[in-house]
Amino acid sequence: MKNILMVISGPSGVGKGTIVKKILERREDVVASVSCTTRSPRKGEVDGKDYFFLSREEFLKRKEEGDFLECDEHFGNFYGTPMSFVKETLKERSVILEIDVVGALNAKRIFPESVLVMILPPSVEELKKRLSGRRSETEEEIENRLKRLDYELEKKELYDYAVVNDELEVSVKQIEEIIDQEKIKESEKI
Ligand code: ADP
Ligand code: 5GP
Repeated sequence: MKNILMVISGPSGVGKGTIVKKILERREDVVASVSCTTRSPRKGEVDGKDYFFLSREEFLKRKEEGDFLECDEHFGNFYGTPMSFVKETLKERSVILEIDVVGALNAKRIFPESVLVMILPPSVEELKKRLSGRRSETEEEIENRLKRLDYELEKKELYDYAVVNDELEVSVKQIEEIIDQEKIKESEKI
């Protein structure tokens, strides 16, 4: 069966990381791309696993060298998807990119066959609860993340699928079904 490039986006705190982690625990045919960022690691984050944590200088050098499939700036830090990793991994397994809406639409331009999935919160109240429950951002950082919410939700129509992350287990199963369907579709293409 052919491999797919799945791009998962959604507001900060909606549960993208939690969902992707569960999928990776269950499936050997799927790998998550590790992005590069200039932000500092959060408690428990590991360099090379959660992100490649780069200095601004290193990031800009790699950007100039054309090493990013897409990159963008969020909340004062740079984030980018390493092109070589995605291309190499797709030869063997499907790849999930967990990136914001602008990055996702850029990725779709470069890989038109990529499958875009938007994760939505059951409500804004629940999203706020999850963001503050994570205890990894200050109140100001949470406010900044919530300011982007409407912009992100507006782009929902440009996505191939939208999944409301209410019950975690249900969301994970839905995304696994999308992966299976899309892999079949891909293998049926001539
Ligand atoms: P994101 O990667 O989208 O920023 P996270 O995966 O870090 O979000 O999730 C934010 C918080 O919400 C975490 O504390 C996580 O445990 C919690 N969470 C994720 N999915 C659910 C869910 N379906 N129901 C309740 N809490 C959830
Ligand atoms: P966080 O700092 O919470 O991990 O991520 C902040 C934002 O950066 C999120 O919206 C996340 O989806 C986005 N992001 C993470 N990696 C990438 C990437 O490689 N490219 C782009 N464009 N955005 C990314």
